[in-house]
Amino acid sequence: MNEPPISEAERKMQFLYALRSKGVTDARVLTAMEAIDRGPFIRGIFASRAYEDMPLPIACGQTISQPSVVGLMSQALQVSSRDKVLEIGTGSGYQAAILSKLARRVYTIDRHRRLVQEARGVFEAMDLNNITAITADGSFGLAEQAPFNRIIVTAAAEDPPGPLLAQLKEGGIMVLPVGQSDTVQHLIRVRKTADGLEYDELRAVRFVPLLEGLGKDG
Ligand code: SAH
Repeated sequence: MNEPPISEAERKMQFLYALRSKGVTDARVLTAMEAIDRGPFIRGIFASRAYEDMPLPIACGQTISQPSVVGLMSQALQVSSRDKVLEIGTGSGYQAAILSKLARRVYTIDRHRRLVQEARGVFEAMDLNNITAITADGSFGLAEQAPFNRIIVTAAAEDPPGPLLAQLKEGGIMVLPVGQSDTVQHLIRVRKTADGLEYDELRAVRFVPLLEGLGKDG
């Protein structure tokens, strides 16, 4: 059965409703997600599904995360407008774009040069001028810009990478999925305090693995 086409306003309302019903309640995060259109981050045959709460395939065999997971991770990160944020796993650039509305400055790293180039194009088109996208193996972080107030990893490692823990500022928060790629992974939050690291487990998730070195396309 063909349903009548819905207006952009209705589509946006449905998108935000889906986020809220999955637990994204932080007002600043919802405002950022209302402001950033997910459409331009998805190319090709899946573009028409950009407003569904689903992960979707992007270039280089990677995936753009599900919007509600982007929302929950952004909210768990407790970003303030003074924060310098590091993201590992640029992918489409969608998560970085949301963070750019919440933070002072965002550095985002992906091992696939092509993804970094495409994401840069979308950031420019959207006038998001506080994001720096870099091609590198993000497991080593970004020493020249460390320390970071917040770090988010959007690919799963077995354990939090040591260099990232080292580059987190005292008082800082890191959110990342941990676990093997073919089993259940857990989204965890690490806080760095004067006394050491505090961990809490947020929920089960499924992410692509954090891999070593650069992707085949450079
Ligand atoms: N945050 C993205 C989704 C990320 S998918 C978005 O909003 O669309 C995970 C990404 O992590 C992939 O693009 C993959 O290339 C990248 N990745 C995996 N291992 C990496 C590593 N060691 N360093 C940098 N990026 C990595």
